[in-house]
Amino acid sequence: MASLDMDGPFALERKVIQNTVGDNPGNFALGTMSENKRFAVRIVGRSDGNLQQTLLQELKRGTGQPGFFARVFGGKKRINAFKFSLARDAEAAYSKECRNFHNFGGASKLANKEHPKPPPGVTTPCEHCKTKGG
Ligand SMILES: [Zn+2]
Repeated sequence: MASLDMDGPFALERKVIQNTVGDNPGNFALGTMSENKRFAVRIVGRSDGNLQQTLLQELKRGTGQPGFFARVFGGKKRINAFKFSLARDAEAAYSKECRNFHNFGGASKLANKEHPKPPPGVTTPCEHCKTKGG
């Protein structure tokens, strides 16, 4: 079974993010958490600089726009949880994001519309599908 290799799930709330997530590069997954804490991943992503800020931005994008998540996720299953892990640097975060993206079915299964983009200056192709950066 595919594993995100991340901590969580945690409730997708401002205070939880501020108290839990560090300000390093890292990876995250957004998804739904059922009452028995089962996490279903819907989106994978990363931050090249400050994961806490990136997650707060993601939260802000969704907050006050229930229509957005309802449209994307079929109404019943609102995104309400996240998992995360910190990375050594942006390149390591990119590499992990690629692994997460492919392990969880890519753009056909996830809400991610396209393959992860490498951070500036990184030209190493994705080790899973050889997609080039840029
Ligand atoms: Zn790939």
